[in-house]
Amino acid sequence: YHMLKEHPSSLVDMYEALPMPFGLVRYGVAPDHPEVKNVQNRFDEVARDARFTFIGNVKFSKELKIADLKSHYDAIVLSYGASQDKRLNIKNEDDSIRNVFSARTFVGWYNGLPQHRDLQPDLTCSDSAIIIGHGNVALDVARILLTDIDELSKTDITEYALGYLRKSRIRNVTLIGRRGPLQVSFTAKELREMMHLPNTRFHTDTELVKTELSANAELISQNRPLKRLMQILESGTSKTVGEKSWSLKFLRSPVEFITRDSSDPSQPKFIKAVKFHINKLEGPPDNRIAVSTSVIEEIETSLVFKSVGYKSTPVEGLPFDEKKGLVPNVKGKVLDKNGNEFPGLYVSGWLKRGPQGVIATTMYDAFETAEIIMSDIQQNKPMLSDTIDNCPKMGAEAVIPILHERGIRTVSYDDWKKIEEKEFEVGRRKHKPREKYSRVEEVLGILDK
Ligand code: NAP
Repeated sequence: YHMLKEHPSSLVDMYEALPMPFGLVRYGVAPDHPEVKNVQNRFDEVARDARFTFIGNVKFSKELKIADLKSHYDAIVLSYGASQDKRLNIKNEDDSIRNVFSARTFVGWYNGLPQHRDLQPDLTCSDSAIIIGHGNVALDVARILLTDIDELSKTDITEYALGYLRKSRIRNVTLIGRRGPLQVSFTAKELREMMHLPNTRFHTDTELVKTELSANAELISQNRPLKRLMQILESGTSKTVGEKSWSLKFLRSPVEFITRDSSDPSQPKFIKAVKFHINKLEGPPDNRIAVSTSVIEEIETSLVFKSVGYKSTPVEGLPFDEKKGLVPNVKGKVLDKNGNEFPGLYVSGWLKRGPQGVIATTMYDAFETAEIIMSDIQQNKPMLSDTIDNCPKMGAEAVIPILHERGIRTVSYDDWKKIEEKEFEVGRRKHKPREKYSRVEEVLGILDK
């Protein structure tokens, strides 16, 4: 958007792995937050620009390499986000255990992300679930598990997820964090929404909350967002009526997943409990860290979600900072392993600054990346290595035929609009905004009709 607006002779092509555009807006934003998805209208506006081309159903780094692009573009912006989970590094984390999910996969599942379509969470085996982590994604998962099904069925949540949630027995959800009340990562609006969930009580360790609030009164008074958050947390402790409940437990770090004995050794074992270390907080008030005590607690459960953040992955041959989990850059300009500018290579979004922040944050950092591209052009800096010849680059016009030769079925924005029209049509029949297609073959099938 920014490039097209500010640089009238630029052409922008967007390559996307799925046939459907919108990434995290479609597959990450909760279905009961439709107002956040309004940004899709802006995306539509960009796509209508004659200087923009969407090329869907192309897997970058597998079907399309950076070498394929180099001679056809002046600049490439890596913007493929954070598609993996941060690790807990605890015992049995890598075993395949039934009913232990990352929040990321569960969110992808209810939102129709093809790769998680067949997750099959068992929401009927008990009435309680635990979520590890105190971020907004953890709150999203808790809210989806506890929201009245009639409310959810008016949203664009997938019909198969609604089927599972309709049968769900989950009534109590516990969110377990490693630090204290002042260090939670979720934000005021999202916490307030949880506190207003109909028919749902709230529990927490009120003594700990009181002690932490009075011990840190000065710090809280100087930080308005924290003050608002703590006020909501405190007022929530009076929410004691409701058939369902959610709670916040603090100062606990997971150390082990414990499984049930299984009668069928060929099947993955079911989760039985999570073992936690109880922590104490150390360090200065504005930078408290969790330090394990020797006290252990085992919490029985049949359903666990790990919600401890997302992680980006490297693309072979391109710079990546493993420690920080992002592409090294200055204001979006990629740096190579020696810290020098990588000509013509840029980065934006969670891949640029880590998996933090809402859509507005991501938009501003994308603008910053666009600004740096334009400034490099103005300064005549070298762009992609093969392209110093100053010839106009052909972009998608040259790349799409290469993809077709490789047997890849590319999807255009007009194709997507056809798919979307079908989604609206099926949605209308179900009194939903849309019914998302969640299988790639099905989508391509529609286009082939
Ligand atoms: P997040 O905000 O980074 O929260 C991650 C949580 O996991 C924190 O409580 C963190 O605790 C904990 N954690 C990390 N490593 C851990 C470990 N090894 N053991 C135990 N706990 C651990 O991440 P997120 O919830 O995935 O959200 C990602 C971003 O998307 C955030 O910026 C969020 O605000 C945004 N988002 C926004 C919305 C919305 O606006 N409605 C919805 C969803 C997501 P520590 O603080 O101690 O590290």
